[in-house]
Amino acid sequence: AAGLYLVAVPIGTARDITLRALDILASAEVLVAEDTRSLRHLMEIHGISLGDRPLWAYHDHNGGKMRPRIMAALTEGRSVAYASEAGTPMIADPGFDLVRSARDEGLGVIAAPGPSAVVTALTVAGLPTDRFLFEGFLPNSASQRKTALREIAGVQATLVFYESPKRVAAMLRDAAEVLGPDREAALCRELTKKFEEVIRAPLGQLAEEVGARSLKGEIVVLIDRGTAITVDEAHIEARLRVALESASV
Ligand code: SAM
Repeated sequence: AAGLYLVAVPIGTARDITLRALDILASAEVLVAEDTRSLRHLMEIHGISLGDRPLWAYHDHNGGKMRPRIMAALTEGRSVAYASEAGTPMIADPGFDLVRSARDEGLGVIAAPGPSAVVTALTVAGLPTDRFLFEGFLPNSASQRKTALREIAGVQATLVFYESPKRVAAMLRDAAEVLGPDREAALCRELTKKFEEVIRAPLGQLAEEVGARSLKGEIVVLIDRGTAITVDEAHIEARLRVALESASV
């Protein structure tokens, strides 16, 4: 059927793809990918041929140019499947403007859900999952990174970050400095792949350990919430009322 299909693809192991995602990749009239080579490769692994269907690239650098073309195909009533390079579209990946435009035009938007590194990391890290804040990638500059960390220091939820292996040691050092060394933390590396690894330790210790090693691969960092500062609003209000009343006499 016509519509924009957001297809989740594996984050490592090629067989982590749903049967429905494969059906959609096999039947969509137009295929769109953040990285056409990796989608082509994935389809090959699963024995899906492209045939004479178009496969368009859509990423951060050509989104403005490609969006009208994709929208035109959708308006003509064609089925369009979009996949990012890994995991779920729009999770630290392109796709948002496309979905927004399709929704604005009243066109069908259909998800084919599947893997995402944020949920996979939460699943194995051993930190609370009742509430979490997905922060994505922190800024590259140390001062901006510290500011961003300070802003979320009080959030009562597990903090989840995507990070590059090049920057992870510096990021953990800054996090230990801003959030304190005692919060429980986890580093999840190469999830679903051969060298999958989860290192769990208090933040300061994790920063030291990672600083002493040179880590490779794809990384998710999780940090437990800090201790809550409880504010009793009713109590404050009552005290304030008493103070105001005594001031007015
Ligand atoms: N859309 C993807 C998703 O749903 O997770 C995320 C895309 S983002 C550009 C890529 C980042 O996701 C990596 O730098 C890493 O932080 C994280 N990531 C992706 N695959 C991973 C894996 N197998 N193990 C650990 N982290 C992964």
